Amino acid sequence: MAEPRSWIVIGAGPAGLLAARRLAAAGHEVTVLEAEDSIGGRVSRVRVDGIELDAGAESFATRGGHVERLVRELGLEDRMVAPTGGPAWVVAPDRAYPMPAAGWLGIPTASLAPDVVRALGVRGAARAAIERWIPREDVAPDAMLGEVARRRLGDVAVDRLLAPVTRGIFSRPVDELRVDAAAAGLAAEISEMGLTRAAARRRAKAPAGSAVLGLVGGVAGLTDALAADAVSRGVTILTSTVVSSLRRKGRQWEAWTEDGRHVADQVVVAASRPAAAALVPQVERAPDRQVALVTLSLDAPELDAHPRGSGVLAVDGVTRAKALTHATAKWDWVAKAAPTRHIVRLSYALDNAEDLAPHAVSDASRLLGVPIADRQVRDLVQVVWHDAAPTRAGAREPVPGVHLVGASAGFSGLAAIVDDDQRSSLGE
Ligand SMILES: Cc1cc2nc3c(=O)[nH]c(=O)nc-3n(C[C@H](O)[C@H](O)[C@H](O)COP(=O)(O)OP(=O)(O)OC[C@H]3O[C@@H](n4cnc5c(N)ncnc54)[C@H](O)[C@@H]3O)c2cc1C
Repeated sequence: MAEPRSWIVIGAGPAGLLAARRLAAAGHEVTVLEAEDSIGGRVSRVRVDGIELDAGAESFATRGGHVERLVRELGLEDRMVAPTGGPAWVVAPDRAYPMPAAGWLGIPTASLAPDVVRALGVRGAARAAIERWIPREDVAPDAMLGEVARRRLGDVAVDRLLAPVTRGIFSRPVDELRVDAAAAGLAAEISEMGLTRAAARRRAKAPAGSAVLGLVGGVAGLTDALAADAVSRGVTILTSTVVSSLRRKGRQWEAWTEDGRHVADQVVVAASRPAAAALVPQVERAPDRQVALVTLSLDAPELDAHPRGSGVLAVDGVTRAKALTHATAKWDWVAKAAPTRHIVRLSYALDNAEDLAPHAVSDASRLLGVPIADRQVRDLVQVVWHDAAPTRAGAREPVPGVHLVGASAGFSGLAAIVDDDQRSSLGE
């Protein structure tokens, strides 16, 4: 074990709390400084119509088993739940259709199946089907997925299936998404076997069972448990404490806040990437993509039949929203917490601050295929998240003694962040 040292962790989202817990377990003295008045970052809660719901992240990927391992370690396994099954729906200008059953990342792997023909029409499906016979091509990892897929599958399949899926997952248009950012190693696989076969192989390798899980009461229960565990190991967490600058003082670091300074030997930056770049000039700046979530509580018995399953993706231009989650259809615990109501969450990509309330009801009506009137809205809450699609930062320790974790380092999603923590040697 390393000599005990003092550490400051900036940010009490999942990455900061994991780092704090790890450092405390290794015998270090740790203070977490959090800007907001509560912990959790994007894995925190919001109150809608009197119900506590997840404000940002609402599930975790089961890939690799990393988060499940942590959930068990924290004693939360009894709260682990799978969402309701069933495909996502897609709404295009002229039709609504369930996402085809056989596919990966929206790439259809049985292009002439009836559900693909329903989505793409006969001509679009036939165009996608010939991809298997298009000669192989060398695809560079930094090529844009949209460009490659348009060439190989045709525009209809890209606009109606790939684009809504990738926009929903990566918060960026498919034509601006690098192949290697969509999935590491994908460019080499497309070069070797073409797009449809590469997708089919990825799909076959995906483990059986739900790709995501949630927690009864919300995944914010994870950050609550992490914070409690960190505190029980001696970590101090100070909320409502914005770090405005970070300065080197001899062999130590000073984190300046409104109330003065905190001094420590080493610093972990676990804030967003823009916040990390503002504190540490060596961290390269990256575009700040924002996402707004608008949650509606509705008196709408016409939604009892869950007309579009648990979630809907919008083809570009259909609605201002890019996706909708019917939370009371997706999560049993939300349905129990909101009996006789429907909870619907719309997500929007934003360039600038904008009030989306005027769009939300008509977008929900369009995506759910059911007319909803303003008088049916019991509550509406908008939350805006910055840095919604972080990109990888260069060095993990851009200056000696300052370490980047989580979104600051470009990691996105609980699975990636927990995996990174479980591999970490921070403080050893
Ligand atoms: C809308 C949305 C939905 C998502 N859904 C999912 C999902 O379903 N599943 C999933 O796995 N992932 C999801 N993610 C991604 C996931 O939430 C993030 O990857 C994760 O929260 C990043 O953790 P973090 O600790 O690095 O950063 P954050 O969670 O952002 O926490 C950073 C913390 O640092 C604090 N901070 C920032 N600047 C300062 C400062 N100067 N001083 C002090 N404190 C500061 C912030 O207040 C915040 O609390 C979603 C993200 C968004 C935006």
